[in-house]
Amino acid sequence: MARKKSVRKRRAVVDPCPSHPSWSMARYRTFVRSAMRRAWLKWPPRFEALKLARRPSQTANKKQKWEFQCAICKQWHMGKSVSVDHITPWGKIWELSLAEAWSRLLVGIHQLQVLCKDCHDHKTAEEDSA
Ligand SMILES: [Zn+2]
Repeated sequence: MARKKSVRKRRAVVDPCPSHPSWSMARYRTFVRSAMRRAWLKWPPRFEALKLARRPSQTANKKQKWEFQCAICKQWHMGKSVSVDHITPWGKIWELSLAEAWSRLLVGIHQLQVLCKDCHDHKTAEEDSA
């Protein structure tokens, strides 16, 4: 039995991407943002920053090998509650060229710091309101 080909009518894309018009700009931005995020997670200076901020865990929990010091509050935290922060805010990427956005994302070790979740949220909120 031949399969009936679906002839669903595509709705016109609102705000189409100039390079790939069947995608909206929103979808394109999500795509680019997630590619940048994947690159950032593999960026070697990000790992170096974590390495510099860590010490063997002082807690009794044997499953927790390392703990990390927040650059702001100086407290020690578990790995899952810290993140690597751009000291100079990355900024609003869609106000930059892509080349500029990449070069602001993939910065060297001296422009990165490890922050706990609370300090990172606080810093981000201050940057967003600035
Ligand atoms: Zn902190």
